[in-house]
Amino acid sequence: MAGPLSKNLQGCTLTVCQGDLTRQTVDAIVNAANSSLMGGGGVDGAIHKAGGPAILEECLQIRKTQGGCAAGEAVITSGGRLAAQYVIHTVGPIWRGGGNNEAKILTNAYRNSLQLAVDYGLKTVAFPSISTGAYGYPVEEAAKVALSAVLDFLRRRSENPPQNSESNLSEVRFVLFDPHTLNTYKSELESL
Ligand code: ADP
Repeated sequence: MAGPLSKNLQGCTLTVCQGDLTRQTVDAIVNAANSSLMGGGGVDGAIHKAGGPAILEECLQIRKTQGGCAAGEAVITSGGRLAAQYVIHTVGPIWRGGGNNEAKILTNAYRNSLQLAVDYGLKTVAFPSISTGAYGYPVEEAAKVALSAVLDFLRRRSENPPQNSESNLSEVRFVLFDPHTLNTYKSELESL
C-alpha cells in the first residue's frame, strides 16, 4: 500500500502519495497555517524552514493589510527557495468534537485554496492533510471532506468552464506524511 494512487476525475489527475510536501515540484504547495500567519509547527514550520525567510516576510505584509487569515480562508505568497513557485496558506478548523462547523470550514479551506490557484493560473497544486495534526481532526473524517471538497470544486468548474481554458488544473496531489494517513486517503480516493 506504500505506492501512490492516481485517478482522473473531471479532466484533472487526483493523486494521493506519501512524501514531504516541501519537496514537491508543483506550481503551488498548500500550507496548513494558523490564522496568525506567523509560522508554527508541523508542516507550517517545515515549509518556512525549507522556503526561507521571504515567505514569512510576505505573510507579515498580508497581516499588515488584512490582519491574518480566518479559518477556511486562504492567502498566497511566493515559494521562496522551494521548488514550488507559490505557497497558498490556508487555515483549517481546530477539531472540537465535530459539531462546530468543522467540516464546512475544512471544505472552505480546500475550496478557497483551489480558487486562489486557478485565479493565479496555476495547474498543479499539492496539499497536506489539513487539520489532522496539531488541530486534531480525525483522519478518516478529514480524508472524506478533503477529497469531496476537491471533487466538488472540479465538478463545479467543469459545469461552468472558465473563459480562459488555460487556467484549468491538471493535477491536485495530496502528499501525506505517515502511512496511516496515506492509506486512509487512498481508501477514500478508491471509493470516489
Ligand atoms: P494542522 O495544524 O492543520 O493540524 P499540522 O502541520 O500539525 O497541521 O499537521 C497536518 C498534517 O501534515 C499531519 O498529517 C502531519 O503529519 C503532516 N505533515 C507534517 N510535516 C509534513 C511535511 N513536511 N509534508 C507533508 N505532511 C506533513
